Amino acid sequence: MKRVHIAATLLDAQLAVDALSSLGIVTHIFNANAAGALGEVPFMQAQPEIWVDDDSQETSAREALAGLHNAPPRDEKKCPHCGEHNPGNFLSCWQCGWALPD
Ligand SMILES: [Zn+2]
Repeated sequence: MKRVHIAATLLDAQLAVDALSSLGIVTHIFNANAAGALGEVPFMQAQPEIWVDDDSQETSAREALAGLHNAPPRDEKKCPHCGEHNPGNFLSCWQCGWALPD
């Protein structure tokens, strides 16, 4: 297991995991459930961390993430239920799970 990324937000982490899984890289998010515990734990420890299962995939994961973060922003969809902005390829709201319009 190698840590390849510390995400600023859970959404950021989810995007990275989706991108890596599309490349066949198995990842885990740690601290993902700690976001609601801010104030109880130090901030840095509450940020989602992305770890790759297979150490040999660390380099390709880092390269994929670098490409992801350099990519231009994609279209966003605004959730009709909670108003959260979601990436254009999301089918349901990452925050509340509401189905997003096409
Ligand atoms: Zn929503």
